[in-house]
Amino acid sequence: MTDTTPHEPRADGAATDAATYDVIVIGGGASGMVAGIRAARLGRRAIIVEKSPSLGRKLLASGGQRCNLSNTLTKDGFMERVGRDGRFMGPALDELGGPKLREFFHDIGVQTVVLDGFRVWPETRKSATVLKGLLDELERLGVPTMTGCEVLSTDHDGETFGVHHGGGVLRSHELVLATGGLALPKSGASGGGYGFAESFGHRITARHPAGVPVVTREDWPARLTAHTIGKAQVSVAMKKHAKVARTGDLIFTKKGLRGPVILDISRDLSPLLERYDEIPLHLNLCRGKTQEDWQSIFAEWRQGTQRPALDCFEEHLPRDVAEVLFELAGVPSTGTIQAIKGGPKDALIQTLVRTPITVTGHTGYDGAFVTRGGARLKDVDPHTLMSKIQPGLYLCGEVLDLDGPCGGFNLQWAFASGYLAGSGTGLAVE
Ligand SMILES: Cc1cc2nc3c(=O)[nH]c(=O)nc-3n(C[C@H](O)[C@H](O)[C@H](O)COP(=O)(O)OP(=O)(O)OC[C@H]3O[C@@H](n4cnc5c(N)ncnc54)[C@H](O)[C@@H]3O)c2cc1C
Repeated sequence: MTDTTPHEPRADGAATDAATYDVIVIGGGASGMVAGIRAARLGRRAIIVEKSPSLGRKLLASGGQRCNLSNTLTKDGFMERVGRDGRFMGPALDELGGPKLREFFHDIGVQTVVLDGFRVWPETRKSATVLKGLLDELERLGVPTMTGCEVLSTDHDGETFGVHHGGGVLRSHELVLATGGLALPKSGASGGGYGFAESFGHRITARHPAGVPVVTREDWPARLTAHTIGKAQVSVAMKKHAKVARTGDLIFTKKGLRGPVILDISRDLSPLLERYDEIPLHLNLCRGKTQEDWQSIFAEWRQGTQRPALDCFEEHLPRDVAEVLFELAGVPSTGTIQAIKGGPKDALIQTLVRTPITVTGHTGYDGAFVTRGGARLKDVDPHTLMSKIQPGLYLCGEVLDLDGPCGGFNLQWAFASGYLAGSGTGLAVE
């Protein structure tokens, strides 16, 4: 266990006045570090306790180690894209939404850039820069951190919180649970925080890996791993869940599908996989072209000179993707485009508009970037992120039952909610 505390807790961890902090933050990830910074800026004596040997391991891995820390959406646009329960984020986004978050980072020496009009990155395009900014600020504020220290349980004795770890117990007047979710276990994610929340009476909703590649029954994606399909449409082919649909870049893998559109729709697919063994999907790999679009395209082709069918398709799809679609439609791909008519043409158009594929699983938390589910939002006040059950207890970041799609949503939430939780500290003891 490494302890950087200037006001050291006793080695046996026993509670003493000196070691009764104003705030203990459990978890030194994105939300926990910002909660610690905010609480310290407000004059609270805070400490961060982190089980990993260093803080911010998941933050370092984020965005392919480049850290897509936010995006340029307005508050309303942001909450709408999050979907289910997005409005819970409102007060946190008021405190540290996109522009304010960029200012926050600017003030701690981390410049940010937007290169595609949407995603916000550190100017260096390195997550290490973001982490260094946060660590430097914690150091400047004198916030002690205990790393390599796994919290095993928590309690409240009627006056103070107890945080029990291998070396003893720390006590505080307020407690921030910033323990994250279950994705990327090697970053320290273990889900222990759910148990701590439960021990205070919080209910925890079912959890699923989200932002996760999917496994398909069909093996044809393995033949197409070289390709990224832009603006692919993906929808669930079940009447009851027909509204589950997304558009974005799609990548084929040896076992199925990945890419932003899949990571995004997997937030809905993984809970469905608990209910159904398999989920039929429809893909539209031609930028949403409809039956009518294809009828007109075929009509034009028919009037032109005799050409091999696959040559014609090259302007719409990579050649080997087109070959697979011909196979799926049961139409030979070796003839001319003029030879494709009647039933075969209809079958091909049907396959082009709605390519069937079946999801049978996902790659689990190892391959996921966020957890769907967590501590129930109804038990937490969105204006302070204080527990409605246990005064003085705050929950922030991914431990809560909130997750967003790809594109800086989850880190933005982690930072903003950490900030709001840190702002609230002091409320329960004043
Ligand atoms: C590979 C990958 C890439 C990602 N890329 C992006 C991206 O580019 N943009 C984006 O917006 N989101 C991204 N995300 C999601 C984002 O990183 C997370 O949603 C965010 O880090 C959650 O922050 P958090 O503070 O809630 O949890 P975390 O950052 O996971 O921090 C929780 C901390 O709590 C500690 N902890 C847990 N239990 C205990 C315990 N019992 N005792 C002590 N410490 C404990 C953990 O070790 C961990 O350090 C990515 C996720 C992954 C896995």
